[in-house]
Amino acid sequence: MGKVKIGGYAPISVQSMTKTRTSDIPATLAQIHALEDAGCDIVRVAIPDLTSARALKKIKQESEIPIVADIHFHHNLAIQAIESGADGIRINPGNLNSKEKVRKIIKVAKERAIPIRIGVNAGSLEKDLIKKYGSPTPQALAESSIKWIRFFEAMEFFDIKVSLKSSDCLSTIQAYQLAAHASHYPLHIGITEAGTPFTGTIKSCIGLGILLFEGIGDTLRISLTGSPVDEVRVGQQILKTLNLREKGIEIISCPTCGRCEINLLSIVKEVEERFSSLTHPSLKIAIMGCVVNGPGEAKDADIGIAGGKGTGLIFKKGIVIKKVKEKDLVKTLFQEIEPLISKA
Ligand code: SF4
Repeated sequence: MGKVKIGGYAPISVQSMTKTRTSDIPATLAQIHALEDAGCDIVRVAIPDLTSARALKKIKQESEIPIVADIHFHHNLAIQAIESGADGIRINPGNLNSKEKVRKIIKVAKERAIPIRIGVNAGSLEKDLIKKYGSPTPQALAESSIKWIRFFEAMEFFDIKVSLKSSDCLSTIQAYQLAAHASHYPLHIGITEAGTPFTGTIKSCIGLGILLFEGIGDTLRISLTGSPVDEVRVGQQILKTLNLREKGIEIISCPTCGRCEINLLSIVKEVEERFSSLTHPSLKIAIMGCVVNGPGEAKDADIGIAGGKGTGLIFKKGIVIKKVKEKDLVKTLFQEIEPLISKA
């Protein structure tokens, strides 16, 4: 997908999707650049009309990151998006309502060597499969994906990745498990319509966590009713937690309790905002509420702080190196971290 490899032993990539009108080029570019800064690997944009498909040309010129055009219903939008320079397209063959239209898209994608994601969706499954299974079961989703894979293969088109989406977390897991056993194509995993950042993050961590732990999934997107940058952060954190991505800067913090004398939450947020999107180097930062357990509990951290009454300690590998006033705590911590990052 553009410069990003998907499948085989390639690192699992994190995707997101812009939430602007794609025809609003400045707003879409601003969101794409924010996603690039957050370390997003691939970004998808909605193509609901020809104006959006044509806007892709300008968007592509000013983006570093591979752009996927998200297409529903109209095959001509897919063709225009490819002509505007999309690095990949995502179609739901089930809602194009014509095999001939799917063939036309495949033909143009093949000429331009553009990969296609076959996005099977519980909401638009073929009628014959609904009749066979009674509802969009995981088996029905997996069977639909295999049917479309064979259709693409019959046209000698193999640059395929597949997604099987249902808003039910357990059905999605089962559908991907079935698909992973039935084909060798890369899988784009995600829990669709997962909800707000709170519920969506939990559903995604459970669903994608189980799949990734089983070795299923080549690229992922977290769907949140919220900021796309948060989608990327959650996706990156899932991969880091499973040791599937270089940890980069890891921030650990205590839950606080009655011993905490500083505003730990605001400090953690400040540190996270400044450092969490850095993928290099591997550095563990501990933000602890008090000295009672702070440096001791976090002694494997490269650097950390432990709050006190109006003061705080800065420690490295559990050894206290400085005592500073609370108001200078974050500033001093940043001063100590910067050389550690630039040295690496
Ligand atoms: Fe409580 Fe201190 Fe432990 Fe934080 S580090 S949870 S403030 S005892």
